[in-house]
Amino acid sequence: MSLLEIEGLESFYGASQALFGVTLDVREGEVVALMGRNGMGKTTTIGSVLGLVRPRGGSIRFAGRAIAGQRPHRIARLGIGLVPEGRRCFPNLTVHENLVAAARGGTWTTDKVVALFPRLGERRDQYASTLSGGEQQMLAIGRALMTNPSLLILDEATEGLAPVIRQDIWRAIRTLKTTGQSILVVDKTLSELLPVADRCFVLEKGTTVFSGTPETLTPDLQDRYLGV
Ligand code: ATP
Repeated sequence: MSLLEIEGLESFYGASQALFGVTLDVREGEVVALMGRNGMGKTTTIGSVLGLVRPRGGSIRFAGRAIAGQRPHRIARLGIGLVPEGRRCFPNLTVHENLVAAARGGTWTTDKVVALFPRLGERRDQYASTLSGGEQQMLAIGRALMTNPSLLILDEATEGLAPVIRQDIWRAIRTLKTTGQSILVVDKTLSELLPVADRCFVLEKGTTVFSGTPETLTPDLQDRYLGV
């Protein structure tokens, strides 16, 4: 069954149309890659799912319910956890407090987050403001997991981080996949993204131009849609 189903989505910023018919879906337990060059509509698609951008056309269904146009806090409560571009944590709370503040009933605990990201255990009582960028990103992922999301959305979660930290984050994504966590991920590192993805969707100028398994996204197509 599809957990998230987007069909013919059209979204605007004021009078300016950014999405012209985005279609994508994420099934239970899948890792789905949302791809496309800069400015093609990935973040706007995610913003539309979360109610941060108001769609004017098409449909968005989550766990069988139409959610387009609902308020962000209501949508989040249905079980969507976002790790936004440019991580967001409370700087004046410790790592542990940040995690606890995000908790919503379910199976995720601070111990499970620390098992996924041992560095966060080492930094447990440090203020988030004192963490490195990579550690803050781990904390942002941990916070999203503490809400026990049915769908985890990662928007450029490894952008601008040191290679060793990126590896930790990709390892965590692969671990989450083995637990059956459904994930929608936007990232530019194809060498990491393609092996972990079950399916890919590519956007161009606000429209879905490709959907299929990573194997069918041939080097030619990668070059056409994602090459610089
Ligand atoms: P990137 O990888 O650069 O984040 P993206 O694929 O996520 O790119 P979007 O950020 O969704 O692309 O942008 C899609 C289109 O919407 C672009 O033409 C962009 O200029 C426009 N856009 C994005 N945010 C706004 C905004 N706040 N106001 C007006 N136009 C916007």
